[in-house]
Amino acid sequence: MIRFIEAYPTRALVSRVPDVEAVLPGHLELAERMLYLITHNERRGVGLAANQVGDMVRMFVWCIDGQSGRQSGVVFNPEILEYSPETSMAMEGCLSLPVQFLVGVVRSKRIRVRWMTPDGVIVDKHIIDEYKARVWQHEIDHLNGLSIVDTMTSSWKRKKRTKLASIMTARRLLEEQVIGRAS
Ligand SMILES: [Zn+2]
Repeated sequence: MIRFIEAYPTRALVSRVPDVEAVLPGHLELAERMLYLITHNERRGVGLAANQVGDMVRMFVWCIDGQSGRQSGVVFNPEILEYSPETSMAMEGCLSLPVQFLVGVVRSKRIRVRWMTPDGVIVDKHIIDEYKARVWQHEIDHLNGLSIVDTMTSSWKRKKRTKLASIMTARRLLEEQVIGRAS
């Protein structure tokens, strides 16, 4: 089945995605399709969370080109246990936002993470650093219902205020719809 990356905002992108109890074959097929999507996209992505394709599965894929070649992986049930106090600022885009929406985001240089591998093995207190730490924080934010419109620096919020205003209006409408449906 073809998957599409959904444009922000959607209900899936503003919700916390719950853990999977076990990795099922369907989850692995989904991960494979997501890796294909980011590596065969006009906008080459470095990561994609399952809720960006509308699946409420706590999983993301990542694929970055480093000095030692291309590295990629599939991560289930990630939780950040600790953020380093040292931070850095860099420009980030998002496949769920318009291509020209590039903004500055401050992130911790290192994170301590717990997650589950596709084989169901729990990796605990593992330290991730450098560019990979930035990518993982971006994707784990997605799984927690956050995106760069929430985490961008305030100076970038000012610079992008026109575009941001239309995105936030769409989000408000979506939230009203969700609340309207629940009551
Ligand atoms: Zn994103």
